[in-house]
Amino acid sequence: MAGKKFTYAPAPESRAILDLRSSYGLFIGGEFVDSIDGRTFKTISPATEEVLAEVTEAGEADVDRAVQAARRAYERIWSKLAPRERGKYLYRIARIVQERARELAVLESLDNGKPIRESRDVDIPLVAAYFFYYAGWADKLPYAGFGPDPRPLGVAGQVIPWNFPLLMLAWKIAPALACGNTVVLKPAETTPLTALLFAEICQQADLPPGVVNIVTGAGETGRALVEHSGVDKVAFTGSTEVGKMIARSTAGSKKKVTLELGGKAANIVFDDAPIDQAVEGIVNGIFFNQGHVCCAGSRLLVQENVADIVVSSLKRRLGTLRLGDPLDKNTDVGAINSAEQLARIRELSDVGEEEGAERWSPPCELPDRGFWFPPTVFTGVTQAHRIAREEIFGPVLSVLTFRTPAEAVEKANNTPYGLSAGVWTEKGSLILWMANQLRAGVVWANTFNRFDPTSPFGGYKESGFGREGGRHGLEAYLATGNRGRDV
Ligand code: NAD
Ligand code: MN
Repeated sequence: MAGKKFTYAPAPESRAILDLRSSYGLFIGGEFVDSIDGRTFKTISPATEEVLAEVTEAGEADVDRAVQAARRAYERIWSKLAPRERGKYLYRIARIVQERARELAVLESLDNGKPIRESRDVDIPLVAAYFFYYAGWADKLPYAGFGPDPRPLGVAGQVIPWNFPLLMLAWKIAPALACGNTVVLKPAETTPLTALLFAEICQQADLPPGVVNIVTGAGETGRALVEHSGVDKVAFTGSTEVGKMIARSTAGSKKKVTLELGGKAANIVFDDAPIDQAVEGIVNGIFFNQGHVCCAGSRLLVQENVADIVVSSLKRRLGTLRLGDPLDKNTDVGAINSAEQLARIRELSDVGEEEGAERWSPPCELPDRGFWFPPTVFTGVTQAHRIAREEIFGPVLSVLTFRTPAEAVEKANNTPYGLSAGVWTEKGSLILWMANQLRAGVVWANTFNRFDPTSPFGGYKESGFGREGGRHGLEAYLATGNRGRDV
């Protein structure tokens, strides 16, 4: 993009560290096995459309095998193991993740399209951090505030999306195992590879067979898993649409359910905020991971008297972002994860223009192959516009203005979602007041998209229910007597 003062030499991270197989089976009972009906699909690199590997599509019978393997491991081994021993396995996994961090980062960037800078510095370190954190809880559950002897639930069926493939796996598997459950996890169909590498890490850690099972496939495989009668706990992260289907199909069952769904977060900038820092926070909020972030700050609410300077600083900053090869260490904006997602982003952005908002992107050359979308800013957006209401899940920012804190709150909360929000101001009292008013699971103050394993994460309203992370995240995997929905 613009930055004409000097050019960067290519600095690609090597793929040589990867030992990618041409095809992968399902990970059931501690081994890679073929599916019963032999169906497969391919996963590609969204940056080049190169086929990376052939992956097995699990059918209902395969899901059943995986759930049975998890049940056996739960009853015979994992629920009987001393909590301290469970913790040791989790520490071992965390250390292997650290040891193999580079390999995991390269594979994540290849399969997902996200910049290596992010997978290397954010995703994979957080994966290790979540395993370390929950390893520590394994033998301290009686002190977690859920009674003197909290029990595991049994077999957890977990379905995750493609935006943070290995991190979402960690958010799901680490607390489940720490609490004494066993799991069957289904990664997203466009990003199955790091979950399969994680299966190898489970083998390397000598994790007892069946404690972790990985079944690959698309929506049908996910449906078979969440509807399986042998599953005691369902944990889902993905679209609100599928989340609603899962809520319906599990209603009336004994399954404990947590759903982490979409978002349309407001990033709120007051006139006393340090503008340069706020601009960095806006960029991080919506252009991190190509905006494929459920808690992305996709609605910028900026106080009217500083709107011009904030938007012009933002545009200047976007001109310095580098879009391209996800494996290049200088890349800021990688590839859109799939052709389908690109089509969705294009469609909603076109609607934004048709409805009268003003569209802007920095001058930016898109590669010929693969799926790409330039960082995009819409100004002149009103609350009625679809781009202000619907989750785009791409690098597209809608800018709205406000005059008073009360108006900012009203606009921020005017959404069916409630996952996150950001507040930028010098005034501590205003931050506390805003945090109290905002109907969002996470409120960041003078920062955005900051994650920590000790901090709970989850939604209000159509962003779902239940919390992941922190002490709160244990509750989803324990029989606490409260099987209902929190929040
Ligand atoms: P999705 O909800 O269809 O997929 C998420 C996961 O659910 C995948 O593993 C998928 O295979 C699985 N799945 C699909 N149908 C299922 C079913 N009936 N039962 C069980 N599992 C099922 O999401 P998507 O199609 O990849 O993306 C669509 C939109 O969802 C995006 O544009 C974005 O707005 C939103 N999204 C949100 C998140 C998030 O983190 N909250 C993540 C991904 C996508
Ligand atoms: Mn892929």
